[in-house]
Amino acid sequence: MVYDLLIRNANVLDGSGAAHFRADVAIQGERICAIGDMPYATAANIIDAQERYLAPGFIDVHTHDDTNVIRTPEMLPKLTQGVTTVVVGNCGISASPVTLADDVPDPMNLLGKLDDFRYSSFSAYANAVDAAAPSINVAALVGHTSLRSQVMDSFARPATAEEITQMEMLLSQALDEGALGLSSGLAYRNAIHAPTTEMAPLVAAVGKSGGVYTTHLRDEFAGLLDAMDEAFATARNGQVPLVISHLKCAGAGNWGGAGKALSKLEAAAQHQHAHCDCYPYTAGSSTLDLGQVTDEIEITITWSTPHPEQARRPLKEIAAEWGYHC
Ligand SMILES: [Zn+2]
Repeated sequence: MVYDLLIRNANVLDGSGAAHFRADVAIQGERICAIGDMPYATAANIIDAQERYLAPGFIDVHTHDDTNVIRTPEMLPKLTQGVTTVVVGNCGISASPVTLADDVPDPMNLLGKLDDFRYSSFSAYANAVDAAAPSINVAALVGHTSLRSQVMDSFARPATAEEITQMEMLLSQALDEGALGLSSGLAYRNAIHAPTTEMAPLVAAVGKSGGVYTTHLRDEFAGLLDAMDEAFATARNGQVPLVISHLKCAGAGNWGGAGKALSKLEAAAQHQHAHCDCYPYTAGSSTLDLGQVTDEIEITITWSTPHPEQARRPLKEIAAEWGYHC
């Protein structure tokens, strides 16, 4: 048989967690059809891996690629790193079910400009992703802040009972249409006024549909451990698996606390499905929040809508130039 593709001499990491092993891998169509020592196999395309590592595509579970997968379906920044699936809609912000009349609320502006928010239902978003045919797979969460943007006239207060019911309806429809679960970004100013009681019915709806709850905690600084407790309780009550997003000890005063945070997570995981993801780099990344600006940490501005010329510059330098002091 002539395979479509044969990758020879690879160090195969099969995703099971087992050690790598030396093998040839044969592919027919879109499927791996043989793994092993195949000295006599032939193929239309043969790649000599020269003992490089060969692994299944990585799943990037924490992304804000909601509209990138539609705008730039090649998704080269991900694909070239070996990522073949992204989970979008994290930190309370998702592209659907959302339509916006004027300003894009912070931090939904991470996802795009006003006309990027045009998917009033999850299925409309899913259809747009399908039509764009991105080179990678997409799984999507629904963001709590996105839901708030659809039913509330102000973010600076808890949702009323009626607004919670409306959010629950939007969320349940999205879950029926294939959303993976719910995310929250309770540290952000447009979600921080949502009390636990606002989250509870939404998370319970996710529990009913068999989804997952991910949360950018209410506090990643001095109040980290309490915020973790809040997340555990919310997920437990809603009977959902929990993922704590980008678990970290933020702020210089909190450094060295990772042991405590991880012990707490491990203790909770004895009683419920509790997990975390983390940045694969030693920095944080977010929209600019004055509450997080201190002189203990170097902050670099990567992009700015009103001041695009300041991109890639240290905030300290910009502040000095403009005559501001920390
Ligand atoms: Zn986040």
